[in-house]
Amino acid sequence: MNDAADRATALRAYADETAGCTRCPLAVTRTQVVFGSGNPDADLLFVGEAPGFHEDQNGVPFVGQAGKLLDKLLAGIGLERSDIFIANVLKCRPPSNRDPLAEEIESCAPHLFRQSELIQPRLVATLGNFATKLLSGKPVGITRVHGQEQAVSLGGNSVVLYPLYHPAAALYTPSLLKLLEEDFARIPALIERSAVATAAREQRAVAPSAVPHSELATTPAPAVGQDTVQLGLF
Ligand code: URA
Repeated sequence: MNDAADRATALRAYADETAGCTRCPLAVTRTQVVFGSGNPDADLLFVGEAPGFHEDQNGVPFVGQAGKLLDKLLAGIGLERSDIFIANVLKCRPPSNRDPLAEEIESCAPHLFRQSELIQPRLVATLGNFATKLLSGKPVGITRVHGQEQAVSLGGNSVVLYPLYHPAAALYTPSLLKLLEEDFARIPALIERSAVATAAREQRAVAPSAVPHSELATTPAPAVGQDTVQLGLF
């Protein structure tokens, strides 16, 4: 899957397939599946927890108060929703916005893995404990790991995982908001760094001895969204 148009088509087909999901009992209580939204060709994938009331009504992730803060944080680093893709650990709202259950996460995780496989992001920013624990594969909480990037394998690709506090947690706690803003400020550099690493991997795969490693390390990376075709915004 190389071409942005192919990626958008495949993601749209997967969204259609997922719309009727009955893998877990949330299928009965949800209004609709909240598949995710944004640029299918994004370098940066955000992963939240689960849809809340407004997301369940609208079919779009992060449209409530936490979403407004997320938009503000994105604007602070020069990004908007059309530059990124946003999904959740759970695609359906848990009743009364309760925490996701282990069995719901297990049932729903293959959807997130498939999304990542199709989008092929370079950087995956997890928002809060549930996304961070699922994608790191470790039970370590967000307080300990926020702002610490790590390499993980996701949907068949190696990506940089970047755990962040959930915007909902930062809404009413100024100290957390400050930490979240500081962690957000590093995102552009992390995308650039992962783009350089990806370019180096691709170069090595094509012509293992043609490009000295020292040169690759200084190859300027494209800015986010610069090379992406804004097709099929979800
Ligand atoms: N919180 C989340 O984790 N996801 C949403 O989509 C909305 C709020």
